[in-house]
Amino acid sequence: MQTDPANLSVFCQQMMRLYEGSPLLVAVFDDRDMLCYANPMFRKMLGLAADEFSTWSDLMRANHARRVGNKVDSKDFEIWLASARSRRGKLPYRGFEADLLDGSWVYMTETVNAQGWMLCVAFDITNVREDERSLRTARDGAVRAAQTDALTGISNRRHALDLLDRQLDLLVSQDRPCGIVMLDLDHFKSVNDVYGHHGGDLVLKHFAATLLNQLRIADIAGRMGGEEFMLLLPGMDEPQVQLKVDRILRLVRGASPLAEAPDFRYTSSAGAGLLRASEDAVNNIRRVDRALYQAKAQGRDRCVMVRD
Ligand code: GH3
Ligand code: MG
Ligand code: MG
Repeated sequence: MQTDPANLSVFCQQMMRLYEGSPLLVAVFDDRDMLCYANPMFRKMLGLAADEFSTWSDLMRANHARRVGNKVDSKDFEIWLASARSRRGKLPYRGFEADLLDGSWVYMTETVNAQGWMLCVAFDITNVREDERSLRTARDGAVRAAQTDALTGISNRRHALDLLDRQLDLLVSQDRPCGIVMLDLDHFKSVNDVYGHHGGDLVLKHFAATLLNQLRIADIAGRMGGEEFMLLLPGMDEPQVQLKVDRILRLVRGASPLAEAPDFRYTSSAGAGLLRASEDAVNNIRRVDRALYQAKAQGRDRCVMVRD
């Protein structure tokens, strides 16, 4: 830190004062994506009350219900949210444009540190020329669609593999582990057989939403194929990964995702381990895939950790 520690509190005080009066939108979220600070301009533009401090997802939900804040370009709000979360906090820095319901347009930046905390700074670009704006909107929409699984809203295989490559690069430069988990729904064919493809789709959406609810900002969830999903858990060691996966399997086991069949239950199996910087993405996946097959062979509804 460049500031003399003796002056740190003066510096912090002044920085807060500057933020309070700034036309920039400034907010800080912790690693659970809980809002910790938002300056008045951020609150005004995003339609937040002065005492509102919930998770970003809950803020978006509340805003959607009261029709303020971000414009949602999807018929299904939860899919929009999942898709937004599949990009949120996954890179050390990113910038993008966001369309707000009051007609204004902001350029939003997100900076994430190694602890998973996020600084959001945005500025109003409503007066940018209209034609440039629609071009950029189309481009951003195309990028989002190319990264998102249409059914669940989480990252698709391609985006998840890109993010896996980034995590492998980070392993080399940062001295911290990263968990990798492959999950596959159990006996999913029979879910489709009994409840139809639509029922199966609802179960897949429920599963993806359950994963998302358990993730921190920097965690990554991707749908790798039909009913196969991958999680990347930066900074987690083996016991933490195991705990997280056990929790997910427990939540899935206890859930009742089909309103029309309240007795319906489902389970999932997982293979989990830590990323190895010495191996490429394919081999890292192969290792946890083998553990996943063991979990299936041992009777399903369990997680097998990679041990060698
Ligand atoms: P296991 O416990 O061994 O994993 O058994 P399983 O029945 O889940 O086996 P398998 O992986 O072979 O079955 C996957 C099924 O998932 C087959 C396919 O019809 C179904 N599926 C794949 N994609 C979708 C989808 O988008 N929607 C629905 N409803 N079903 C899908
Ligand atoms: Mg399966
Ligand atoms: Mg499968």
